[in-house]
Amino acid sequence: MRYPMAGMKPKRGHFDRAHLPDPLTYYATELERLRPAGLNASARCPFHDDAHPSLTVNLATGAFRCHVPECGAHGRGVLDFHMARYGFGFVAAAKALGAWSTTQ
Ligand SMILES: [Zn+2]
Repeated sequence: MRYPMAGMKPKRGHFDRAHLPDPLTYYATELERLRPAGLNASARCPFHDDAHPSLTVNLATGAFRCHVPECGAHGRGVLDFHMARYGFGFVAAAKALGAWSTTQ
């Protein structure tokens, strides 16, 4: 889709995946006692009252999944995690993670 008047584009932003934090760095900050094990890490799930490390995160992709069926929290990356944990929408989460670029 093209703008009818080139040069009159409103200032707008876009999601910049390259600026998302590294999953290990992010989850080490967000989760208590993160335990890395190869490509994955586990920790207590922040989405339910968890006494065990029920949450598994993939340190390559940032995908996360809680293995307690009654909770079932899951997502595809750190952005999904941030949205779920803090109740942010997509843009607010991207901004909070420094992955929102504004272009003129
Ligand atoms: Zn859970």
